[in-house]
Amino acid sequence: MGMDLNLSEQLQTWGEPAFRRRQVAEWKYRHLVRGYAEMRNLPLPLRQRLEREVPFSTLKPIHELASADGRTTKLLLQLRDGQLVESVLMRSYADGELQAASLRNTVCVSSQAGCKMRCSFCATGHGGWRRDLQAEEIVDQVLHFARMLKDEQRHVTNVVFMGMGEPLDNYDGVLAAIRLLNASDGFGLGARNITVSTCGLVPEVRRLASEPVQVNLAVSLAATSDQRRSDLIPINRRWPIPELLAACDEYARATHRRVSFEYVLIAGVNDSTEEAERLAGLLRGRLAHVNLIPLNPVEGDPYQRPAEADVRRFESVLRRAHVPVSVRYSKGVDIVAGCGQLRARQAS
Ligand code: SAH
Repeated sequence: MGMDLNLSEQLQTWGEPAFRRRQVAEWKYRHLVRGYAEMRNLPLPLRQRLEREVPFSTLKPIHELASADGRTTKLLLQLRDGQLVESVLMRSYADGELQAASLRNTVCVSSQAGCKMRCSFCATGHGGWRRDLQAEEIVDQVLHFARMLKDEQRHVTNVVFMGMGEPLDNYDGVLAAIRLLNASDGFGLGARNITVSTCGLVPEVRRLASEPVQVNLAVSLAATSDQRRSDLIPINRRWPIPELLAACDEYARATHRRVSFEYVLIAGVNDSTEEAERLAGLLRGRLAHVNLIPLNPVEGDPYQRPAEADVRRFESVLRRAHVPVSVRYSKGVDIVAGCGQLRARQAS
């Protein structure tokens, strides 16, 4: 029932006129209402029919955790067929300013229940793939936090596809979600505030470069040699580093956007000074930015997070080589906010 139709399509099959669909979209994406009852300009019978036949959200929050500093909220959500996914809200302040105007509120969404990629350091990959998320299920994650932020007089400023799943392995669902989020008569989030993160599906990176909606691209690199990268990120065997970087260059050329390279730092595996130097060498002259992510250790895995000093050493090598770099300590480690970790804990 309604599972494969989004709200607008459902209204269309009922023969509702276009202006009704616009009204519903306005209530849902703009006013961020919490139910059909609040859609006051809809005829009562239509509201009641919606109430009966189309669940207001495709997701049910089943567990919510806040970090000790209150800035990060993590949600475990249940989809209608029982699958579990995670989403995270990260509230941050730009440049230490505390004015509301400078707040960034980033929602990290899941694009799949599980993942096929099986990266060796990632909790999500350990559990395998269950299914792709539909566009509505992705958008509903954003809406959930948008409603929460509204109560705090804030709003969602950024959406990143860095939760569970490989977004480019659910290309159509992710692109439809991006269009919904970007629609000027809908949620209205600028494409420059949306980031898709991939472990390196080269054909899809090239396809994304040719889309009319130009979002930011983040690529999970994690190593500088094909041998090591293939150990960490198996898809590298299919599309090794040179092909991946060529696709990134094409993306930067087509979109005029700086590609960001995520580099998860694992103690003794990929955090040596030589590796940092090779990374600088790979990216020199490219329109690029490096995001270092000290590993969020996964329970039962052998990998460890490097010491703070090792993270700084790696960072400074890149800085000295004039590669733009930032360090992203996984937000809310105290609430197991690493990819797939809350679900893993719930399941055990
Ligand atoms: N599949 C996509 C997006 C999801 S993962 C991708 O691979 O990019 C988002 C980021 O989290 C990736 O850069 C990934 O390498 C990183 N990541 C995964 N597991 C992690 C862990 N245990 N600790 C730190 N970062 C991790």
